[in-house]
Amino acid sequence: MRKKIPPPTISTRNAASSKRSMCRICSAIMTTSNLWRHERTQHSMPSPKKCIICNKAFKNKYSLREHHRMTHENRPAQ
Ligand SMILES: [Zn+2]
Ligand SMILES: [Zn+2]
Repeated sequence: MRKKIPPPTISTRNAASSKRSMCRICSAIMTTSNLWRHERTQHSMPSPKKCIICNKAFKNKYSLREHHRMTHENRPAQ
């Protein structure tokens, strides 16, 4: 038996109603269980966001980049 499935809408705000998730790496959209396997198989390298200088880990590349800029680069203010 199949229930009627509403048409898929790409909405980042209303993601809770669907069981789909987006791959953080390639942005593919699939169910959570598929995504788990997908990340294991398609992106077997977890690519940790680690600072190569102080080895601190970050949850995403933006945090890492910000850290790197603020901590390890001597940028003139403004
Ligand atoms: Zn992916
Ligand atoms: Zn660092």
